[in-house]
Amino acid sequence: SELYKVDGWGAPYFAVNGSGNISVRPHGASTLPHQEIDLLKIVKKVSDPKSSGGLGLQLPLIVRLPDVLKNRLESLQAAFDYAVQSQGYEAHYQGVYPVKCNQDRFVVEDIVKFGSPFRFGLEAGSKPELLLAMSCLCKGNPEALLVCNGFKDAEYISLALVARKLALNTVIVLEQEEELDLVVDLSKRLSVKPIIGVRAKLRTKHSGHFGSTSGEKGKFGLTTTQILRVVKKLEQAGMIDCLQLLHFHIGSQIPSTALLADGVGEAAQIYCELVRLGAQMRVIDIGGGLGIDYDGSKSTESDVSVGYTLGEYAAAVVQAIRFVCDRRSIKHPIICSESGRAIVSHHSVLIFEAVSASVYESPTMSSLGFQYLVDSLSDEAQADYMNLCSAAIRGDSETCLIYADQLKQRYVDQFKEGSLGIEQLAAVDGLCDVISKSIGAADPVRTYHVNLSVFTSIPDFWGIGQLFPIVPIHRLEQKPSVKGILSDLTCDSDGKIDKFIGGESSLPLHELEGDGGTGTGKYYLGMFLGGAYEEALGGLHNLFGGPSVVRVSQCDGPHSFAVTRAVPGPSCGDVLRVMQHEPELMFETLKHRAEECCNDNGNGIGMSALANNLAKSFRSMPYLVANTAASSSCS
Ligand code: PLP
Repeated sequence: SELYKVDGWGAPYFAVNGSGNISVRPHGASTLPHQEIDLLKIVKKVSDPKSSGGLGLQLPLIVRLPDVLKNRLESLQAAFDYAVQSQGYEAHYQGVYPVKCNQDRFVVEDIVKFGSPFRFGLEAGSKPELLLAMSCLCKGNPEALLVCNGFKDAEYISLALVARKLALNTVIVLEQEEELDLVVDLSKRLSVKPIIGVRAKLRTKHSGHFGSTSGEKGKFGLTTTQILRVVKKLEQAGMIDCLQLLHFHIGSQIPSTALLADGVGEAAQIYCELVRLGAQMRVIDIGGGLGIDYDGSKSTESDVSVGYTLGEYAAAVVQAIRFVCDRRSIKHPIICSESGRAIVSHHSVLIFEAVSASVYESPTMSSLGFQYLVDSLSDEAQADYMNLCSAAIRGDSETCLIYADQLKQRYVDQFKEGSLGIEQLAAVDGLCDVISKSIGAADPVRTYHVNLSVFTSIPDFWGIGQLFPIVPIHRLEQKPSVKGILSDLTCDSDGKIDKFIGGESSLPLHELEGDGGTGTGKYYLGMFLGGAYEEALGGLHNLFGGPSVVRVSQCDGPHSFAVTRAVPGPSCGDVLRVMQHEPELMFETLKHRAEECCNDNGNGIGMSALANNLAKSFRSMPYLVANTAASSSCS
C-alpha cells in the first residue's frame, strides 16, 4: 500500500485488504468493513465464464461504482451545507454536473437521481449534451439548474428556450457577446422569457496546465466592457430582469484555496456590480476546478495534486462571496459549482492485464569463444576493448561506459560494412551487457506488455502527460521484484506508460507467473481516478475500441456485490463501422473470395468453418484474447 501510495490517492474509496488485493469502499469513510468489495472478485466474476454467474466479458474493463458516485455527490453537498451553516451564509448551494466529464447515460442518470434531494442539476456545452441533459432532467428535481455553456448558434439557443418551455430551470450563459442578439430575438419569437447568465473573463489567472482558459486573454467569456454592453442591450430590450446568473471558470485542478478565493472574490465584485446596474441577480456559478489529488501528495505546486479538502474548498468559496456581498450589503446569492472531475473521477476503475514481459536475459558470452571475438574486431575496436577492460579492473565506471559506447558504435559500423557476422554482433552485445551489469549500469527496467490502448483508455497521458495512479489490483502482500514500464498493443511508440505518480519512471511490478497468484494465471493492473474526461476523449487509434463496462453495486451480505449492468466493449465490426466500413459487406466480399480460392477437397479447413471464422473475427473485440492460439484455431 505504501509503495503505491494507495492511502494517499485512494482514501477513502480504495485500500489494500488482508488478501493483498485492492478493495473498494463504496460508501467512502462510512463504509463498514463487511461492505468492502474486492476488485479481483469483480474481475473474476465478470471475466471468467466458468465462475458462478460469470459473464465471460473480455478485458480491458471499466468497473463503474454508482455507490462511489453517490458518495462523491453527497460529500460535495455536505461540504457546502456545512460551510453555509457554519458561516451564517444566507442562501444555499446547488451544484450542476458538467456532462462533458463523462456523458455515459448511466453516469448522468445516476447523478440526476442521487442529486435530486438537493436540486443537483446539469451543465451542457454543446447541442447533443443539451439534448441529453434535457431528457435526463425531466426525471430530476424541478428546481435543478440546467446551465447552457459553450459557443452557441441559433439552433442551440432555440433548444435551450424549448427546454425552458418544458419547465426545466434553464439558464443560457452568454459565452460570446454576439449570442445576446440571438437570445433576445429567438425568445421573442418563441414567446419564452429566458434566464440569462454571463460568463466573465476574470483577471485572476491559474498558472497550471489547466489554467490556460483563464485570465484576460482566456479563450472564453466576456470582458468587462462586453458585460457592460450586454447590460445596456438588455435594458434597451426591456429584459434586464432576465440577467440572473454570473458564471466564471478559472480552469480545472485549481491548486490552492488562495487562488480560488482570489478568483471567487473578483467574481463576487462583478456580481455585486451587476446587482447595482439593475440585473435581478440570483446565482453565482463558480465553474469547475475543484481538484483531485492524483498522487496523494497534497501539493499546491503540481497539476496532479491539490492542497485542500472538499471542506476547505467549500469554506473558501462561501467565505469569499459572503465577505464581498456583506461589505456591499448585497443579498447572498445561491452558489452553484460545475465540478466534474471531483464528482466522477473516483467512480470508475479501468482494469487491464499484463500479458507478457520482456525477459531480462543474463548476459552471456558467445559460444564462439572469446579470443575469436576479439580477433575479429578492427584495431580501433580492439583498442577500445583493452581500454574498457583496464577501466573495469580499476573500477572506473564512467570510463567503462564511455569505452563500452565507443566499442558498440565501432562493431555496429563493422556489421554494417559486412566485416562482422551476426553471431559476433550478438557476442559483443553480450560483452557490453556483462560489463554494464558488473559496474551496476545495466538497465533493470523491463517492459510489460498490456492488453490496452493508451490512446483509447488513458488519452490524457498521451496528450498532456497527465499521471494517474496505476497499481496491480492483487498480489500486494508480495514484495514486487521488478521495475517495469507498460507498453500497449498499438503500433505506436507513444503507446506506452513510462511515467508514474511520484515522478517515477518505472512501476514496481511482480514477476508474471504461470498462475499470477490469482488462480487464473493472470496479472491485473488498475488505473484509478480516470472517471472524468478519459472516456469521451479516447480515440480509435489502431481501431482499438473502448473497454467492456460493468456497473457494480454493494449489496447486503458480507463483501457482496451485484453486477447491475454488463456491456461488452465494441467488436471489430463496431469499430470498423465507425470509420464508414460496412462489416456485413466486407464479410460477404471475403466469403466470396474464400469460395473462389478454397476448393473444398477435404484437405484442411472447410468452407463453412472458414466463413464461421471470418464472422467470429467481426464479432470479437479488437483486444487480445487469452490463449489466442487455441481460440483462433478454425473450428
Ligand atoms: N465548467 C466549465 C465551463 C469547464 O470548462 C470545465 C472544464 O474545463 C468544467 C466546468 C469542469 O471542470 P472540472 O472538471 O475541473 O470540475
